Amino acid sequence: MEKQDGCYLPKTLQQTAFKLDQADLLSEFRQQFYLPEESIYLDGNSLGLLSKPAERAVLSMLDSWRQYAINGWSQGRHPWFQLSEELSRELANWVGADKENVIATGSTTVNLHQLLATFYQPTSQRYKIVATSLDFPSDIYAIQSHLRLHGLEAKDALVLVQSHDGLTVREEDITLAMTDDVSLVLLPSVFYRSGQYLSMPQLAQAARQRGILIGFDLCHSIGIMPHELQSWDVDFAFWCHYKYLNAGPGSVAGLYVHPRHHHRLPGLAGWFGSDKEVQFDMLHDFTPAQGAGRFQIGTPHVLSLAPLLGSLEIFQQAGIQAIRSKSLQLTQFLIDLAETYLSPYGFQIGNPREPERRGGHVCLIHPEAIRICKAMKQVGVIPDYRAPDVVRLAPVPLYTSFTDVLEAVERIIQVMENKSYEAFEKQREVIA
Ligand SMILES: *Cc1c(COP(=O)(O)O)cnc(C)c1O
Repeated sequence: MEKQDGCYLPKTLQQTAFKLDQADLLSEFRQQFYLPEESIYLDGNSLGLLSKPAERAVLSMLDSWRQYAINGWSQGRHPWFQLSEELSRELANWVGADKENVIATGSTTVNLHQLLATFYQPTSQRYKIVATSLDFPSDIYAIQSHLRLHGLEAKDALVLVQSHDGLTVREEDITLAMTDDVSLVLLPSVFYRSGQYLSMPQLAQAARQRGILIGFDLCHSIGIMPHELQSWDVDFAFWCHYKYLNAGPGSVAGLYVHPRHHHRLPGLAGWFGSDKEVQFDMLHDFTPAQGAGRFQIGTPHVLSLAPLLGSLEIFQQAGIQAIRSKSLQLTQFLIDLAETYLSPYGFQIGNPREPERRGGHVCLIHPEAIRICKAMKQVGVIPDYRAPDVVRLAPVPLYTSFTDVLEAVERIIQVMENKSYEAFEKQREVIA
């Protein structure tokens, strides 16, 4: 491709991006975030950026520790004893559930362990778990360990629905796997590699009709698209807060349990799952909390809950509909640019094209993905590499502009034209 006026992309596109930025209802939120200097950050689906409200919330939590010491459990602006429940009221909106059905607790994988320990009760008739061949590894490891705890082997009891193209999984194929011997189905809402969104309402209905429990991992959909877990009749769900929800590395995660299961005892019980009124009676008989709060285990990680308080303020102001609509515009803009200007360099688009089948990120496939990602960082574009051949790009509605997207594509063209990626090793870094 030839450069014109110092750019590979036609100048008219700058006008297009500028107009889109002018019309962007969420543009003001960008100034609330600490954006890396010099770089275009397209990795908010791995680790969202720090916002000023999140920073303030952490500092204020440190203050309450300094000021109140042990009394911080009951005093201060956000007493720690109720903090998880306080946050759950806010979080409930983001998953489409009543507040009693949601709790901020644990980590993604620990919450999955809790939910499997609670819901996976195999019988000789129904003992299989259905997942997919494209799932995030941690979810599969968790499933495998629960099968082992029940004396079962994955080769007999774990059904992995296969992908027909290595990127996506058909809802029909998942439904076909819901046979009479299946106890539980566990699926991602959005696949971490291709960004395919699975129709949760359709799959939840299919599972329920067959007497199968269904749970979803919302890591790649929470904070980027709306959910209606309760009306979709999903049995349980879990997610992290450090991706689109910007609550920081290792921030406390969340889970949801449908009210029809609130009588169930937690598979993994601990004193923070107690009814708060009696928790400090210190009895050996466990009196669980009424709602999803009973699935908490131990003392909440207060300092890792704090950023969520601040981050959710921003989300409340922005609203999920505006976020989803800008996200689709951003990803569409990126997909269109990639199709026209990156496919000549051998890139393929790996995510579904239909807006209703996409999450918040774009998946570009290239045999040199690993080296291209390294070269992109060198020219100030931060992507995510996912083995073996995916460049994952997430323009985030709260802090990515259309001009950023355009500039990122310009720099990718630069990398491809100069073949600057050839200077890097094909070896993946320890953290990709
Ligand atoms: C990020 C992610 C996880 C991470 O689990 P942690 O316990 O938070 O490390 C799990 N599942 C999916 C689908 C993810 O995208």
